Amino acid sequence: MQPFGYVEPRTRDEAIRLAHDNPEARFLAGGTTLVDLMKSGVMHPALLIDVNRLPGMDEISHSDRTLEIGALARMSDVAGHPAVRAHAPGLSESLLLAASGQLRNMASIGGNLLQRTRCLYFRDRHFPCNKREPGSGCGAIGGENRNLAVLGSSERCIANYPGDFAVMLVALDGSVHLHGPDGARSVPAADFHRLPDATPEIETVIASGEIVTGVSVPIDALSRRSHYLKVRDRSSYEYASVSVAVAAEFEEDGTIRDARLALGGLAAKPWRIEQAAEILAGRRPDDAAALARLADVALDGARPQAGNAYKLPQARAAIGRALQTLARRHTEVRA
Ligand SMILES: Cc1cc2nc3c(=O)[nH]c(=O)nc-3n(C[C@H](O)[C@H](O)[C@H](O)COP(=O)(O)OP(=O)(O)OC[C@H]3O[C@@H](n4cnc5c(N)ncnc54)[C@H](O)[C@@H]3O)c2cc1C
Repeated sequence: MQPFGYVEPRTRDEAIRLAHDNPEARFLAGGTTLVDLMKSGVMHPALLIDVNRLPGMDEISHSDRTLEIGALARMSDVAGHPAVRAHAPGLSESLLLAASGQLRNMASIGGNLLQRTRCLYFRDRHFPCNKREPGSGCGAIGGENRNLAVLGSSERCIANYPGDFAVMLVALDGSVHLHGPDGARSVPAADFHRLPDATPEIETVIASGEIVTGVSVPIDALSRRSHYLKVRDRSSYEYASVSVAVAAEFEEDGTIRDARLALGGLAAKPWRIEQAAEILAGRRPDDAAALARLADVALDGARPQAGNAYKLPQARAAIGRALQTLARRHTEVRA
């Protein structure tokens, strides 16, 4: 581990100024990603700006129309919060299916959004990786790529985004709030992470000195009927090979009135299916033709490698299963 400085600012503005003045600095929240990667020499910030004492950034609140979650709120606190469970149950599910109880107690929502890929070649300094060291090459293409991206990848990088919460946030039309030297701004969660293209080392739209202050989710009929399905190699303490975040509203007769979907595990960012509402409106959740069309649209342009082509049939099956689970819950609530 290389030597590094450590500071504990007491105000958000001080934290932003420190980050802006030190481009090699990184914010430290729970440390469950950052410290891990520092120990293995993959990340080596010159300065850690510990944000854990910044006031007000761990709050969870709601109005009739919006759920607000501070960036320093811990994953377990968000998962168990009554307003989150009532108004966006899929968010709670996405958190409870992530990592382990101990990690969820440590890890923050801001850090969760910004966790790095689990690509083996990124995490092992002995291999080339354009994300870790731009221009060095990509060991994963033609290598061990079972868990890597099939959508939106580039010739430089096929790493995928491993997180769960961000996938549900995208399906719920959530926003990420940022504060930087030029003030505050909000970004739709769907635009927060970037695809690799020629610069896989740039993973989000965060600018120099900006801190994530929180996320918000509009509360509506869809958010209250949301569900997160995670498909993985073992039933706990494992990342998704494929995940489906779905929010939907149903008619009395069980057909779908409106739906929003996003897929996880498949790309460097949560993969929103823009045409979901158009394809599913008026259809039943087990309508095979509609589900096939939805999967065709979602997976259009997929470029699987030798090791990860299995994700395509897995995603097709998971989309239907997620919708049908949500529909069944809806029927049970009304019965
Ligand atoms: C064994 C293991 C299993 C896991 N399994 C899962 C899983 O199944 N699903 C899942 O989603 N996650 C999983 N995780 C990832 C875990 O959820 C993240 O490590 C955690 O959420 C990161 O939060 P943190 O507060 O510890 O972030 P930190 O490690 O403190 O920070 C992570 C990154 O975010 C930056 N950062 C932190 N806060 C801010 C902020 N407010 N503004 C700007 N930048 C910030 C840091 O500089 C750093 O680059 C797993 C982790 C481990 C170690």
